[in-house]
Amino acid sequence: MVNRTEAADEPLESMPVLALKGVGEAMAEKLATLGIRTLQDVLFHLPFRYQDRTRLSKIGTLTPGTEAVINAEVMISDVVIRQRRSLMVRLNDGTGAIMLRFFHFSQKQVSQFERGARVQCFGEVRRGPGMLEMVHPEYRVLRSDATDESALDNTLTPFYHVTEGVQQATLRKLTDQALALLERRDLRDYLPLALTADTGLPDLTSALRIVHRPPPGSDVNALIEGLHPAHRRLALEELIAHRLGLRLLRVDAQAKQAPIIRPAGQLPGSLRSSLPFRLTYAQDRVLLDILNDMGSGEPMLRLVQGDVGSGKTVVAALAAAQVVECGHQVAMMAPTEILAEQHMINFSAWFEPLGIDVAWLTGKLRAAQRRATIEAVAMGQKQIVVGTHALFQKDVEFLDLGLAIIDEQHRFGVHQRMALRNKGAREDMQPHQLIMTATPIPRTLAMTAYADLEVSVIDELPPGRKPVTTVALDNVRRADVVERVGAAIDEGRQVYWVCTLIEESESLQAEAAEDTQETLQQLLPRHRIALVHGRMKPREKETVMNAFKERQIDLLIATTVIEVGVDVPNASLMIIENAERLGLSQLHQLRGRVGRGSAQSSCVLLYQSPLSNNARERLDIMRETNDGFVIAEKDLSLRGAGEVLGTRQTGLAEFRIAQLGRDDDLLDDVSLMADRLLVSYAESVQGLIRRWIGEEKKDYGGV
Ligand code: ADP
Ligand code: MG
Repeated sequence: MVNRTEAADEPLESMPVLALKGVGEAMAEKLATLGIRTLQDVLFHLPFRYQDRTRLSKIGTLTPGTEAVINAEVMISDVVIRQRRSLMVRLNDGTGAIMLRFFHFSQKQVSQFERGARVQCFGEVRRGPGMLEMVHPEYRVLRSDATDESALDNTLTPFYHVTEGVQQATLRKLTDQALALLERRDLRDYLPLALTADTGLPDLTSALRIVHRPPPGSDVNALIEGLHPAHRRLALEELIAHRLGLRLLRVDAQAKQAPIIRPAGQLPGSLRSSLPFRLTYAQDRVLLDILNDMGSGEPMLRLVQGDVGSGKTVVAALAAAQVVECGHQVAMMAPTEILAEQHMINFSAWFEPLGIDVAWLTGKLRAAQRRATIEAVAMGQKQIVVGTHALFQKDVEFLDLGLAIIDEQHRFGVHQRMALRNKGAREDMQPHQLIMTATPIPRTLAMTAYADLEVSVIDELPPGRKPVTTVALDNVRRADVVERVGAAIDEGRQVYWVCTLIEESESLQAEAAEDTQETLQQLLPRHRIALVHGRMKPREKETVMNAFKERQIDLLIATTVIEVGVDVPNASLMIIENAERLGLSQLHQLRGRVGRGSAQSSCVLLYQSPLSNNARERLDIMRETNDGFVIAEKDLSLRGAGEVLGTRQTGLAEFRIAQLGRDDDLLDDVSLMADRLLVSYAESVQGLIRRWIGEEKKDYGGV
């Protein structure tokens, strides 16, 4: 048990909540579930909503949907019995009248509201049948000698996120105490005045005081939306702390060494000349970035961003060839079985003719096979290993991992990225790391979530690609769409029909796809239709995909498993069912399967009406643009960073106070200030990281 007086000497950063009045072991445990352990935590647990009970409103100025305090005289009160027995009290303050309505009330209440009594009420104003009303307002009957202001609060009323056993009132008492302590000793302000003076934002202590107990007249909307200068001061500090964390991780990585990969030898040249195409200028440029990194002896940490179809795989393969040539191993990891398979097919086709063995490692391997592969990898007999997250398993060890390639990084959690980085790491050595993503990462996000990575962009598609024409059609026009599919096939084109369900279950998706296949086969009896879904065995999927590639199939019904990696240039029409349920990035990925050949391609987004505004906006964006960057920016603004990156679960883009999108305009200041702190205020750097990222999350973002 912590001694209260002893604890009271501690700095607020580490003073346990137990030091506060009214907090015992049991309450401390409950508070911990809200992430509140110290006084500092109490102060950073911000209200999410406020009520303004600091001023009186005239009834004549009230508008429905707002909350207000009024002070008025009872004109008449009555218990009426229509559908429900209710107490109705009509008030008037000289500017207008309003009705109070109570469904649960005592006899005492009925007698309180006698004609001529003055009452002060607080509640939400609603539009009633004849006039404005308040349902079950908080109220008190005023003594006849009370002044108008007697019962008003002197700050806005905060509302906190609570949990079982922790009431609003508890948190208000705790913040009262914490704020009182803050009067006597400041919470350490790590942002020197010299840095923040120009921003015009309040200092830390004032900011905290304002957000917890905003003075009368504060802009409630700005407070609720987190746009108040006080919030922005806190968000700024948090964003700086995150950026510093990532910067330090990068410094850590740079303190290690990585194998020096020299750009010499036969293999990359042979691979390049075996390709049926020339690299685009952008591919060459990005490859050069990678080779420069890997030649330096420092571990590479590079993110390659390229729109769907921009040709990231071949760039990764050429980098891999260089590493293999220098005698090190390469791991290539993809987030899904089918994508890993696609890489396996490509890598085998490219490397095996050159005498390089490509190993395959996924969760679905049989035990004996898996053991044999793991052994060969550990002995260094396999130079390239392609697989899924199975590559992370503890028992997978490389003899000499030189390069880890991670495709479609946004689906991997931070911890998985870390695990792979640590895979080949020995003492002061670490493998190079190449992360490829088709999700264009808006600059703002790159600056915060990926501040530890260098970024290269493949900003050019291979020649001959044509933008896909996209239309959105109501599902009631399905018959027209089927007719259109038949006509396209008759012209020699191939078609994807993508079935989607919101259910995450692969079996439900598979079932829906089977139903669709049956129906479509009846409607298009002459055409060759096949099905691919997530519940099929890899061998079966491969057979179907190959048949589609060989043009033995006209129409491929698929679940969203084809989202990534599948490549059939002759397919030039795609139908996506229930398109309104999919996110923009997913639609863009799916649509990227067509438009890969020389024919003009189209995409039909079938939707179920009625559409929500958000869904309509998404479909409109898909019709208007093929530009992955524009789509990603919109996606970010419609959905928020956590979902775009798929990091909601991993906590990567999650902040306590800051919000990407909302606080983007702070980011330039953030990077400037972080740099200056690193140079001139080293002790602040550690303090900020400890405060916002915490000791236990030291590896935060180190990915
Ligand atoms: P993504 O960037 O979406 O992963 P891929 O690497 O799958 O793209 O490449 C898409 C297709 O484009 C593949 O068929 C690939 O062989 C082909 N491709 C890649 N680079 C070029 C190029 N420079 N010229 C023509 N085709 C290319
Ligand atoms: Mg790819």
